[in-house]
Amino acid sequence: MTTRVWDYLPEYQTERDDILDAVRTVFESGQLVLGDSVRGFEAEFAAYHGTGHCVGVDNGTNAVALALQAVGVGPGDEVVTVSNTAAPTVVAIDSVGATPVFVDVRESDYLMDVDQVESVLTDRTKVLLPVHLYGQCVDMAPLRALADARGLTVVEDCAQAHGARHHGRLAGTMGTAAAFSFYPTKVLGCYGDGGAVLTGDARVDARLRRLRYYGMAETYYVVQTPGHNSRLDEVQAEILRRKLCRLDAYVAARRAVAARYADGLADLAGHGLVLPATSPGNTHVHYVYVVCHPRRDTILERLRERDIALNISYPWPVHTMTGFAHLGYGPGDLPVTERLATGIFSLPMYPALAPDLQDKVIDALRAVILSL
Ligand SMILES: *Cc1c(COP(=O)(O)O)cnc(C)c1O
Repeated sequence: MTTRVWDYLPEYQTERDDILDAVRTVFESGQLVLGDSVRGFEAEFAAYHGTGHCVGVDNGTNAVALALQAVGVGPGDEVVTVSNTAAPTVVAIDSVGATPVFVDVRESDYLMDVDQVESVLTDRTKVLLPVHLYGQCVDMAPLRALADARGLTVVEDCAQAHGARHHGRLAGTMGTAAAFSFYPTKVLGCYGDGGAVLTGDARVDARLRRLRYYGMAETYYVVQTPGHNSRLDEVQAEILRRKLCRLDAYVAARRAVAARYADGLADLAGHGLVLPATSPGNTHVHYVYVVCHPRRDTILERLRERDIALNISYPWPVHTMTGFAHLGYGPGDLPVTERLATGIFSLPMYPALAPDLQDKVIDALRAVILSL
């Protein structure tokens, strides 16, 4: 059997009764849309973060899009983010008619190089959108200071950072709004699609509730500004409530997997393998375990021969994708991002990853790299 970077079945096997009970609870509740499970999850997810409001939505991409719309972003506005991210970050910016503007990432942690942000600001910049990529947070203090000084709004993309802490604060509590995805692979994942937006601002919360519900106030059935249908599904919400209780345990398990990789691979640093570094102030939740090697493609090929299929997060920087050619970026514009894209790859990472399976990957990777 091929070893893959992610597999939900081992977790399902241990949580099966709880997950099926969540499904049954919704089916027997008499409320299939925007009922007690969505309301309950919203309250519990907000409480976990110590934030005022949570609005459940249908996926992470729309969480980013609705968060942007709710803070007032529309056509003609510019949103500063990174190209080393999952494409949906940028698709969401585009979907609200705004223009994505990219800065490069840092060599040290592959996250937004905050020092570059000021140089790309224009009169049309409205939002700074840091992506807490791979499971750790962007350096937020200088980003927030810049936003405050220039009257800009910060919207966090937390799709890979559930439970991550930055100088003690949880990801999702450091901007005006924060977007989460509950896609099954994520640190908090459901059994299908799901997402949420956190905000401490009651007006943003009210706008989000209208935006996800055709643009209507739930009680009046009158559209003021046309919105979308972006509701979080009741079944997914109930599953998320059950899993939210275990979020800290999932994070601890991911951190243990990461520690085992760090132990097993440490000496390969002398053979060109770069392991993930945790930046100061961060508690890394290791959504993906990204390593880097100049001979990545050869390594992946040899591992495939040993029935180990690894992923690359992400092989094509967003600014080089044909769908974003109209933005006017080209090769060489974001040199660190472009160089990383040729060397990074991801090792298997999920809370229920069995130690013997992980050791098989460590042993194979060691053998391949030491034979290069
Ligand atoms: C997964 C992801 C998204 C999109 O979430 P979906 O639920 O798949 O729409 C957005 N941004 C980042 C950084 C992601 O990893």
